[in-house]
Amino acid sequence: MANFLKTNRIFTPVRKYGWLFTVLVAFGGLYEPKLGLSVLLIMVGLLITSFFNGRYWCGNICPHGSLYDRILLPLSRNVEIPAFLKSKTFIVLFFVLFMINFVRRALVAFQAWGTYDFLDKFGFIFVTTYLVVLVIGGTLALLTTPRTWCQFCPMGSMQIAVHWLGKAIGVTQKTEKKLTISDKAKCRNCGKCAMVCPFQLKPYLEFSENNQFENINCIKCATCVKNCPVGILSITLSTAKRGRKNS
Ligand code: SF4
Ligand code: SF4
Repeated sequence: MANFLKTNRIFTPVRKYGWLFTVLVAFGGLYEPKLGLSVLLIMVGLLITSFFNGRYWCGNICPHGSLYDRILLPLSRNVEIPAFLKSKTFIVLFFVLFMINFVRRALVAFQAWGTYDFLDKFGFIFVTTYLVVLVIGGTLALLTTPRTWCQFCPMGSMQIAVHWLGKAIGVTQKTEKKLTISDKAKCRNCGKCAMVCPFQLKPYLEFSENNQFENINCIKCATCVKNCPVGILSITLSTAKRGRKNS
């Protein structure tokens, strides 16, 4: 069985206190449904950042991520993520069902368009969604590992799709920062980067020829960077891009 370590993943104030937003929307929204409308800003933010920088949002800004890493990590069993929850079939199926349910509920809310009730009804969709993510994601976090929900989170899937678009039109090559190893020869193959990774990735086994970790599921959280005993990891722009700059 793989060995996973619980280490600090909180390196910024956003990651330290972001979870308060989740609690505010999920519970406060039950009394003031308009609070749910603030989730629209979250969606805009994650779509913009993913276009330029992959799943950066998941590792650095997501309020649910903050809840999982700050509040639930100490309580989690922190064991291996069940393989089926990471499978493409499950991820796609979950995304489709999520979107069907969201559109169905949005259509009902839009029947109140033009009335004062509309904002409450529309906002309440996001409130209940946040509550469901808190309950399901939180339960999975306790029983498995904090970032299990993130494996099939529909917002994560949307980020992967938008990142693909940014990559296809050549934007990410100039803007995306990736986990980078300065010198592969100095790597001790100790696997510490894999043991502390919230997504249970194995960067030390997958660095590309240009010394970067190309896995789209890397959320650029820098936990491995802080824990590498040799200090050879960083999160930097594409080495090809830097090479062009320096030439
Ligand atoms: S590989 Fe490193 S930066 Fe990427 S998700 Fe894992 S710990 Fe975070
Ligand atoms: S933690 Fe550093 S030294 Fe250890 S395997 Fe990962 S990159 Fe190599």
